[in-house]
Amino acid sequence: MKRLSVLGSTGSIGVNALGIVAEHADRFQVVALTAGRNLPLLEEQIARFRPEVVAVPDQENARRLQARIGPDGPRVLFGTKGLITCAADSQADMVVSAIVGAAGLEPTLAAIQAGKDVALANKETLVIAGELVMAAVARSGCRLFPIDSEHSAIFQSLAGHSKSDVRRLILTASGGPFRNWSLDDLQEVTPQDALAHPNWTMGRKITIDSATMMNKGLEVIEAHWLFNLPVDDIAVHIHPESIVHSLVEYVDGALIAQLGIPDMKTPIAYALSYPERLTLDLPALDLCRLGRLNFSAPDSLCFPCLGLAYDAIRRGGTTPAVLNAANELAVDAFLQEKVRFLDIPRIIGAVIDKHESSAASSLAEILAADNWARIVASDIIDEIQGASYP
Ligand code: NAD
Ligand code: MG
Repeated sequence: MKRLSVLGSTGSIGVNALGIVAEHADRFQVVALTAGRNLPLLEEQIARFRPEVVAVPDQENARRLQARIGPDGPRVLFGTKGLITCAADSQADMVVSAIVGAAGLEPTLAAIQAGKDVALANKETLVIAGELVMAAVARSGCRLFPIDSEHSAIFQSLAGHSKSDVRRLILTASGGPFRNWSLDDLQEVTPQDALAHPNWTMGRKITIDSATMMNKGLEVIEAHWLFNLPVDDIAVHIHPESIVHSLVEYVDGALIAQLGIPDMKTPIAYALSYPERLTLDLPALDLCRLGRLNFSAPDSLCFPCLGLAYDAIRRGGTTPAVLNAANELAVDAFLQEKVRFLDIPRIIGAVIDKHESSAASSLAEILAADNWARIVASDIIDEIQGASYP
């Protein structure tokens, strides 16, 4: 029995992870769950999986939930401290890190420091604090298994090979709903347009990140830390079918890839059960029916977020944390229709321009940079909003 703590259990990844647990109840036991807003779903999950401890963001909701589930139910904790307890102080052998955004950093880091294996969906953790997190992994001896489909594909394509034989990594990107759109068309994009991803069903934030291609930028940074390769050896190919999940190119010219239908259950299950594979009830990939697979280079003019991410990790230090925080605010403002789609990269670029990068060697320095970026981004968003709606 592997004991799991699922952080962000009510989200797209969390629900999929618990679906796998339910299908393989003889292998996994859930000891902790945490959720942000969807308390009715959390309550159902508590009844179904009977964890020992759960956490929600605020005290009032914690009190309400505890009253509903009664004294025989799990302890209900709250806030960052509650998340950290669920991540680091529970009986878990493995923590599924599936909170969205910077809120996932502290509990994930705490889990690593406590020596728990981590199945990582929350890529923001590595974007914000990659150096710190990978040093903590090395110190604690825990293992970090990628859930992100591209990184899972690379992890699988590296198996049995020597790291020194790797020439470069190729991350594939669907291109999102606006692939092949012109800059003119992109001016008018609404949140509804951007939330309609052609291949994947995901949470709102990552869906917008996929539409701007910031998701791929964050993934380049994630791959840099996970696989310890310079970003200049990490390329991005547009692949609209989302069948080849990513590739490793070796020094002899061989490309090793992992293919599959676009369903997160496969990479989640692999992270949960590595090195074994779990039987999953998914449709088989029918390559003959598919007929062809397409690849092309990304369009840097229409999708500047990818370049912003490459620049941020090249600059290093606190800059990737600033990129991430500015992106979180810009995406949120776009979803609230305060700014337009093409304002997202403008806001991020403007915040980074104002930032004086410094070393990201402690959590305090990183959180200070994150906080600074949120204030600056928020001011810029107010200015844009003021200018657009006089
Ligand atoms: P989601 O929005 O569906 O779910 C997020 C979860 O985090 C929910 O349980 C929510 O309640 C919780 N949460 C949100 N804000 C919180 C806060 N401030 N404090 C505590 N909990 C909070 O997101 P998702 O699509 O499941 O994505 C989760 C993470 O996995 C993201 O980092 C995303 O980039 C990554 N990821 C997702 C997919 C996917 O297919 N959905 C694929 C690859 C990577
Ligand atoms: Mg991905």
